[in-house]
Order: sequence, then C-alpha cells, then structure tokens
Amino acid sequence: MAPLLQVKNIKTYYGNICALKGVTFKINQGEIVCLIGANGAGKTTTLKSITGILHPREGSIFFDGEDITNMEPHHIVEKGISMVPEGRHVFSKLTTLENLEMGAFVRKDKTAIQEDIERIFKLFPRLKERSKQSAGTLSGGEQQMLAIARSLMSKPKLLLLDEPSMGLAPILLESIFENVKEINAQGTTVLLVEQNTKSALMIADRGYVLQTGLVSLSGTTKELRESEMVKKTYLGIA
Ligand code: ATP
Repeated sequence: MAPLLQVKNIKTYYGNICALKGVTFKINQGEIVCLIGANGAGKTTTLKSITGILHPREGSIFFDGEDITNMEPHHIVEKGISMVPEGRHVFSKLTTLENLEMGAFVRKDKTAIQEDIERIFKLFPRLKERSKQSAGTLSGGEQQMLAIARSLMSKPKLLLLDEPSMGLAPILLESIFENVKEINAQGTTVLLVEQNTKSALMIADRGYVLQTGLVSLSGTTKELRESEMVKKTYLGIA
C-alpha cells in the first residue's frame, strides 16, 4: 500500500535561508512516526511545509495519493491533516467547549459533531469537567489536551504534534503520551515532533533524526534506541 504521507526531497526557505535541504520521509497509514532533532534542526519547518504554511521551493509532498505541495492550508485541513502547534495556542477567551466547536469548522456533517465531542470527552475526562471554563484558565497540561482535542475535531487522518510535552510536568507528560497512543489506536496516524527523545522513542513505531535540515538517520524506534549516535546525542547516554 502507498504511504499515507510521502515527503520527497523538500527544500524549504525563509527568504534566503535554506532551513530544509532535501528532506525525505514517509508515514504509513496507522503508524506513529517521530521526528527528533536538536533546536533549529528543521522539525517545525517540516511541519509547516506539510500543512501549507510554507511551500517548499523544491521537492514534493503527497498525502493520500494527492500532491499537496502547493495547496493552501485550509485545503490541506480539509484533506485530513491537522496540526497541534508548539505552545498550544488555544482560544483563551473561549470556553473549552467553544474551542472544540471551533475545531470542527471545516466539517459539513454538523450533526455528528456533538457525538464527537462526547467521544473526545471520554478520551479527556478532564476537559469534560472544564467544558464551561474559559480555556485561558486551564492548566498547561489541560491546555495541551484541549489543543490536541480541538485538532481531533476536524477528524484528521493524520495528526501532526509539535512538541506536545513542552513545559509539562513528568506526570502530565506521561498522560499526554498515553492519549496520543489511544488516539492512534482509534485509527489516527500520527507524526510526533519531540525534543523529549526518550518518550518519543517509547511510543512511536519508527523515527527520523533531523540534523541541520537533513535526515541523518532513520529506522524503527528499537533501532534508533540502539544507535550509538542517538544514545550519545539525544539520550544523553555516553
Ligand atoms: P525548535 O525545536 O527550536 O523549534 P526546529 O527543529 O523546529 O527547532 P525550525 O524552527 O524548523 O527548527 O528551524 C530550522 C531553521 O530555520 C533554523 O536554523 C532556524 O533558525 C531557521 N528559522 C526558523 N524560523 C525562521 C524564520 N521565521 N526566519 C528565518 N529563519 C528561521
């Protein structure tokens, strides 16, 4: 079967600065794939290229058999890709429930939305308790749950997560990663960008290491955990 997402040799620039120098990777239907790398390696730029916020100058991106390289962001959401950006960005003045309703804006099946909100509340019971509370008053962990939950409201085939563990206490971090596993088990393919390499390599099936705009290593997470380079550079094991 063809991969769900195929990124082929993309080169993405900020003005004259070449941030991605020819990045290639694929994600198969049903997988959790992680993208790891140091600050500035190009992880966020890769996500922005997939979601149409930036268009690569060279290379191509195919999703579900279709060329999305030059598609506009709202069309890409309609095709089934949703991103949870780094730093959450929930609508702080809106309630939890209103944030979830906003997440469904591209959908035409309005009647099914209520059912999905119920399903999401099962996945994140904490959000149900906070449904009438304005999002700005939620804790960091709850805002991260809400940002993920809001993305799920567009019923994506592929969920992109940019550093979901950022700034979270270890206990919350564990529960967010459990949520990601459950979302995947329910049928959503996941691309996880993480600086928390250890956790990412625990939950993903495969991974890619980005180094200054290029994929320097790829493999199953078992292979990556056993790689001397990954151990030394990203896991802090000498
Ligand atoms: P981080 O974890 O710090 O977000 P990252 O791996 O996501 O790192 P990117 O944000 O994709 O890295 O950045 C890749 C490269 O592009 C870096 O060299 C960075 O300095 C550069 N870059 C990122 N955003 C811009 C921008 N708006 N203008 C110019 N250069 C940028």
